[in-house]
Amino acid sequence: MCSQDQVVYVVSRDLVKYASLLPSNVSRSVLVHTLAKAFGLLSRDYSPAQPIQLVEPRLATIEDLSLFHTQDYLDAVLQDPRQTNLDSTDFGLEDDCPRFLGLPEYARLVAGATITAANSLHSGYATTAINWEGGRHHAQKSRASGFCYVADCVLAILLLQKTTIVPAAPLTGSLSTSPTQHKKQRVMYLDLDVHFADGVANAFYSSTSSNSKQVLTFSIHHAAPGFFPSSPLAQLPLDPSVPFDPFTLSLPLLEGASAKTFASIWPHVERIKNAFNPDYIVIQCGVDGLAGDTKCKVFNWCLDIAIEGSLGWCVSRIVNEWKGSRKLFLGGGGYHAPNAARAWSYLTSIILKKPLDVSVNIPDDPTHSAFPLYAPTFTLDVPAGNMVDKNTSDYLADVQTRFERVSEILEGVLRTQQS
Ligand SMILES: [Zn+2]
Repeated sequence: MCSQDQVVYVVSRDLVKYASLLPSNVSRSVLVHTLAKAFGLLSRDYSPAQPIQLVEPRLATIEDLSLFHTQDYLDAVLQDPRQTNLDSTDFGLEDDCPRFLGLPEYARLVAGATITAANSLHSGYATTAINWEGGRHHAQKSRASGFCYVADCVLAILLLQKTTIVPAAPLTGSLSTSPTQHKKQRVMYLDLDVHFADGVANAFYSSTSSNSKQVLTFSIHHAAPGFFPSSPLAQLPLDPSVPFDPFTLSLPLLEGASAKTFASIWPHVERIKNAFNPDYIVIQCGVDGLAGDTKCKVFNWCLDIAIEGSLGWCVSRIVNEWKGSRKLFLGGGGYHAPNAARAWSYLTSIILKKPLDVSVNIPDDPTHSAFPLYAPTFTLDVPAGNMVDKNTSDYLADVQTRFERVSEILEGVLRTQQS
């Protein structure tokens, strides 16, 4: 059965097996999908109005990966890691991105999963797709970086922006267009991870062009001296030291960013989205900005949809209010594995338009052996902690002033193109 409201959820035994080997997130993948299953989210019965369709990823081919990555980099990543005739330092395959047993399979599966998800949107099979193993937003054209080996976000955007000839079937809903219509597709990339999406921004940034583009990237993150990754593009826009590209946007937040701060900046995100009017939105839902992250103790974000500006609230806005765009939800950072599983299960329930209650207990049944890992609360919620939110009203006013100007510039560029 195909439905315009179908949600594709990409998962397979192999994807979970190899994603669980990722050195920065060992076993996280198992927890994520096991918890989603324990909550019943992976059954079509969970939300008949918005049925979920489990789809197995295909392996990305060299041709797929070559759309962005260089051949010599792919040779290095896809080589059997037991062979040591390679200088890994050339490609960043060291320190936080070591070669590991299973790396070639991991890279091809994670990229293949995001490509599978993107294809399900591009072909009209679904209007929403999820790959929680994706969102590897630091990977560069010929370099691994920040626990990211393969630039699945970039590959998805390149695929989605292709001119489409939309088939008459199976889509029959309002999003479908004439079978013979050729249309340049606009893709917006929105990144909610605590780290700047340097890999994606670098791939599409242009320091000279003021012409309208098909791709707009928008990263909300923390930026500070010494905080990974260092990039001039991670700063607030309209800084005279960096040539401005209205299609490569950054909104750095200061330490302790809470739901209140996200609620304050969210109208800027929506104004940009409305101006750009994308056909597709790729949302990187890294959860390392949530309170309690074991590696990134920077933000104080929370989950509960009832709290304006929370992660759940922001994703709910995208799901329920951002109409007319097909949506690809990806994962990303998140180093407290049980909290990442909580967050992505919760977001899955929001995407399925049947949000769980954050106070619900983690399922304790024989099929959910990970239950003890959810101590001490054993509930779904990831509440805010006690961190002080350093995003002062002065800072947020500066953000507002700059983004009003950014919106005007972007709207102007887009108007010029249309006239
Ligand atoms: Zn991150």
